[in-house]
Amino acid sequence: MAGTEPCDGCGTPTEDPLARTVQLRVDRSEVDSQRLCPECFADWIEEYRTRMQPGAKKPTVDTDADIIVD
Ligand SMILES: [Zn+2]
Repeated sequence: MAGTEPCDGCGTPTEDPLARTVQLRVDRSEVDSQRLCPECFADWIEEYRTRMQPGAKKPTVDTDADIIVD
């Protein structure tokens, strides 16, 4: 089907993909850009939230974290 783009998460052709550009600054500066079907999008949000939760297992965030000082 013309115009369908594969989901970056599961590869399923999606007629209405959700574009998501996210800047992650947990352990490094990173721009994550994905096209996701609604299902994967929901999963991704879940995972993202889990990672962001305090107390969640995450990479060492210490003085090495990206604390940007102007
Ligand atoms: Zn998907």
